[in-house]
Amino acid sequence: MTDSSKEFLEELLITPSPTGYEKKGVQVWKNYVEEFSDEVVTDAYGSCVAKININTDVATVMLEAHCDEIGMVVQHITDQGYVYIAKLGGSDSTIARAKKVFIHNKRGRVVGVTGNTAIHLQDQKNGGGKEPAWKDIYVDIGVTSKEEALELVQVGDPITYASDFEYLNDDILTARAIDNRIGGFIIAEALKRLSKQKGELKVNVIALNSIQEEVGGFGARMMSYRFMPDVALVTDVTHSTDTPGIDQKQHGTVVLGEGPTVQHGGANHPKVVEFIEQVCEKAGINIQHEATSVRTGTDTDSIFFQQTGIPSALISLPLRYMHSPVELCNLDDVENLVQIMVEAVLAMRPDQSFSVFE
Ligand SMILES: [Zn+2]
Repeated sequence: MTDSSKEFLEELLITPSPTGYEKKGVQVWKNYVEEFSDEVVTDAYGSCVAKININTDVATVMLEAHCDEIGMVVQHITDQGYVYIAKLGGSDSTIARAKKVFIHNKRGRVVGVTGNTAIHLQDQKNGGGKEPAWKDIYVDIGVTSKEEALELVQVGDPITYASDFEYLNDDILTARAIDNRIGGFIIAEALKRLSKQKGELKVNVIALNSIQEEVGGFGARMMSYRFMPDVALVTDVTHSTDTPGIDQKQHGTVVLGEGPTVQHGGANHPKVVEFIEQVCEKAGINIQHEATSVRTGTDTDSIFFQQTGIPSALISLPLRYMHSPVELCNLDDVENLVQIMVEAVLAMRPDQSFSVFE
């Protein structure tokens, strides 16, 4: 991974992109892919597609990742100027207290902290010892009245945790919402490498960075309906289940640093999954396996059933502490996932198609 790629990753991870308010995040991604794509297209809601065009007669493969992150939103401002909040997507209220947050709006960025009554003062009445619900969480933005607060924030402003991007060592990095800006990084990096090997490409490639996955996979639905690729390779994060307190009998075994995962079942087309497995075997890349019991819980569920069906496969990045301000991933897994996407696209034929009965 080059230094410029690492710089792009860092910029992507520090840029706020809360679900429904992704413009800044997509802008960073768009600026980067414009340097090596043949064409870049955005839609009404702000998802972005970058293309490498080979020929109108050949198959098109789509690489996809969502660009939005979970967060919070201003719900109510009290007469004393305290800001009550609601969740955006699957944010966890039990870890929301005593955090520094940024409230984002047209004026810029307002700093606040989620209030936490000191341990000395806690009792049953103020929620001492109890896990809070979102209705109990408030942000203190350092004002004393509603009027003062309204000069800084308004109902509907999105909020993100103010946690930093940091490397624990050469391989391991922590940040808020690696889910799934890391996916945006992976598909951009794969597209960049493919653009340098355009002479070897036999299919058209589109990379899609979709909005609003965390609340229903909506951006992926709009764009995949519009472009109807012949095959889709989707990437998102998956739970690394190798930390204390997780029952692997219930959740499966996924180990950080032991390679990306492929999922089997549900939206994952069996022939596409088999194709990915063969590509990995040939390239000597270790993969882990997961079962999709009902849904994948990713954009794959939004893509595969569009129109007459888009054969799809989810290739996931193991992630610890998902939906927290200290998510943690391994850069070897990231590099391997980029490599899988590059090798898979290069292995596709001009008339590439996937059908269960062929
Ligand atoms: Zn995700």
